[in-house]
Amino acid sequence: MIHHHIVYNPVLEWRFDLARGEGSHIWDSDGKEYIDFSSGWNTTNLGWNNPEINQAMIDQISKNTFIPMWLADQAQIDFAKALVSSFPTHLDTALRATGGTEANEMALKIVRAVTGRSKIVSFAHTYHGQSFGTLALGYIPAYVKAISPIVPDFVQMDYPDAFSENHNVLADFLVKLEDVLKNNDVAAVFTEAGMITGWGSMLVAPDGYLTAVRELTKKYGTLLVVDEVGSGFSRTGKLFAIEHENVVPDLVTLAKAINNGACALGAVVTNGALVEKYAGSFKPTSTNGWSPLACAAGTKNLEIHKRDKVWEMAEEKGKFVKEYLSRELSGHHHLNKLRGKGLEIAFNLGSTSEEVEGNSNISTELINRCTKNSLHLADAGDCVQLMPPLTISQEDLEKGLSILVSVVKGL
Ligand code: PMP
Repeated sequence: MIHHHIVYNPVLEWRFDLARGEGSHIWDSDGKEYIDFSSGWNTTNLGWNNPEINQAMIDQISKNTFIPMWLADQAQIDFAKALVSSFPTHLDTALRATGGTEANEMALKIVRAVTGRSKIVSFAHTYHGQSFGTLALGYIPAYVKAISPIVPDFVQMDYPDAFSENHNVLADFLVKLEDVLKNNDVAAVFTEAGMITGWGSMLVAPDGYLTAVRELTKKYGTLLVVDEVGSGFSRTGKLFAIEHENVVPDLVTLAKAINNGACALGAVVTNGALVEKYAGSFKPTSTNGWSPLACAAGTKNLEIHKRDKVWEMAEEKGKFVKEYLSRELSGHHHLNKLRGKGLEIAFNLGSTSEEVEGNSNISTELINRCTKNSLHLADAGDCVQLMPPLTISQEDLEKGLSILVSVVKGL
């Protein structure tokens, strides 16, 4: 096995060369097979190398593979139609991006241009991308020290954690949010829809969170941007997580599972009249955004989600995962704050700072041991974050869970 210790973080010895992926299985270059509980971080929601999506790309190759940003081809038009018709009618326009970072960066520029305001409100310890603007949304100070100063006029709030000991956490948060918004100088609130899926700080907000944020943003002329890069495409038990409370944001950003990770693709879905207000001031386009190949994969991806009602699979399997862990690890000191929606599930280990076997902490140790036992997990830092492909079979789901449970018991 070749370890790319220079390319990857040398501490994370569990990284390996991926030789092949199929469904909910991946193989390393030694031929070792793993059950995947990561979906490449909410990306391969329909299974690795989904054959229908791969075929759609092969078919597209014989038609066209590139379109400059001032033109559009049929693959792009078909995808745009399929995408916007999956959202409430107010969200009638799609903008072309190459990934989640770029989609969020576009959204940042749009909200400033449209409102003429510069302040942006978001949440600490969230992840929205790697550009300066998107890092400014939710950065962890230690991670951006080397590249500071970070972009000004971003206000970071604490996320209202449903597991907080404060039973009024949502009400208290809303008082603070209103305090920030009431000067009528905030361009937008940037948030995920009721949970944080990025950067290993997975938190779930109390029910009613997004509805209340929508009401307050409307009251103060602030736009609402919902990042569905991680939560979109059936992950949380709905095609899009905004459907849990039927909230209509001003902008939604998408990437990752937008085409099952088949080819770089991102999008902003918004209201055409809103975007037209700033048309001409700058162009939200990207040379490689919406490659026809990526779009063909995206159209097929959406077709499969709707045809197979994949969100129902996420809901049922997620319920099963929670019940399984609650039962098998009942009362165990390493099962804390079991939470999540659909098949986006997390729990905290007993003591994440505890040193185990020399230099590795307990979260890393859990991942190392799962890897040894053929279960692949994403490294979510302080919590254990489970994101299996939504198409995973019951047999693989149970196999993976039994590996996880025995590793947790042995920690
Ligand atoms: N938003 C969220 C919630 C994410 O999880 C990510 C990627 N982990 C991004 C944005 C950035 O997307 P990309 O990596 O495609 O730039």
